[in-house]
Amino acid sequence: MYDYVDFFSSEIDELERRGGYRTFLEIQRRAGEFPAAVKCGPGQGRRISVWCSNDYLGMGQHPLVLAAMKRAVDEAGAGSGGSRNISGNNRYHVELERELAELHGMEEALIFPSGYAANDAALTVLAGRLPGCVVFSDELNHASMIAGIRHSGAEKHVFRHNDTDHLEELLAGTDPGLPKLIAFESVYSMESDVAPLERIAELAETYGAFTYLDEVHAVGMYGPGGAGKAAELGLDGRFDVIQGTLAKAFGTAGGYVAGRAPVIDAVRSFAAAFIFTTSLPPAVAAGALAAVRHLRRSDQEREQLANRARLLQGLLREHGIPVVSEAAHIVPVLVGDAAKCRGVAAELLDVHGYYVQPINAPSVPTGSERLRVTPTPHHSDDEVYAFAQALNSAWHRLDLPRTQARAAA
Ligand code: PLP
Repeated sequence: MYDYVDFFSSEIDELERRGGYRTFLEIQRRAGEFPAAVKCGPGQGRRISVWCSNDYLGMGQHPLVLAAMKRAVDEAGAGSGGSRNISGNNRYHVELERELAELHGMEEALIFPSGYAANDAALTVLAGRLPGCVVFSDELNHASMIAGIRHSGAEKHVFRHNDTDHLEELLAGTDPGLPKLIAFESVYSMESDVAPLERIAELAETYGAFTYLDEVHAVGMYGPGGAGKAAELGLDGRFDVIQGTLAKAFGTAGGYVAGRAPVIDAVRSFAAAFIFTTSLPPAVAAGALAAVRHLRRSDQEREQLANRARLLQGLLREHGIPVVSEAAHIVPVLVGDAAKCRGVAAELLDVHGYYVQPINAPSVPTGSERLRVTPTPHHSDDEVYAFAQALNSAWHRLDLPRTQARAAA
């Protein structure tokens, strides 16, 4: 008889041999003290500082968000009690969708249990239902977009990362009569670079393509009221769908798409991953709504983060520590070797109490392993200096290469 357990054990053994086995550091986040956290498991009780959170602005502990969530739990209880279609459509869901549509200057928005589900569901429907649709996808698109495109069954062409000449070549080589969809991100989180949004908008207009823009790492972070990178660059209204998450700058959980009413209605009506799943807990929607509303009014968190990110980038430049790109708030520190990447992260944690998760293949190509460092408005300037110093000493101890400018100096 087939030994199923043995099969999966050998799969895991093989993964471990290839160095790809994942372990998770167990931490207790402490509301009001972020980025401080307390370590669980080995070394239990030790206070650490988190430098790799996607709670970019610390909204996960903002008093307005916490109060809104507590109030909603008292009012509405824990879960939503159903899918949106069957008793799970709460006032908070509806208000949140209205707020998100307004934020992006779109007719409608639709929320999902996660940003992953939003991409998977929306792209499955949009690319899948347009007859003969051809998809053009940036090579560094997130796994959730890749899944949605695959599930759509549409023909796909992958263009080189942010390479609009390559995109144009592929568009020009496609039958002008066919529907086309370009899927891309604004801020790429592993690179911290920004897509050439204006050129992509122009190409889409020239070739008659539908545009699907993932602003997961940009919503709440850039543009007027946190409307995203496209809005910051004055390109609002140039893209058909803006997709975002509530789990990063907005500090809670869930994802969404926003666009013209018939487009969003099609996703609402045809996406299995929207229809056949329980809606977000009302308190999560209420917390997200409070975060979106606050960040529409307040620039303070965004400005503080920009200052901290600039300070860290400058210090790393002085130390000659290579950073992949400085175009956005994420600071991806290039190590270029899986074992050394784990080594730097271990030293930062064990010696200094700084938690940065090493990013290895398949999340990034082998040979480009990195530490994806995310400063926040809640890391003080002193902490930024201390972190840069700690990284510099780990760099020195592991004898890692410095940038050329530093080597020359
Ligand atoms: N899109 C991009 C570009 C992402 O990086 C992520 C998550 O990191 C997602 C979508 C998924 O968002 P969520 O974490 O809300 O599922």
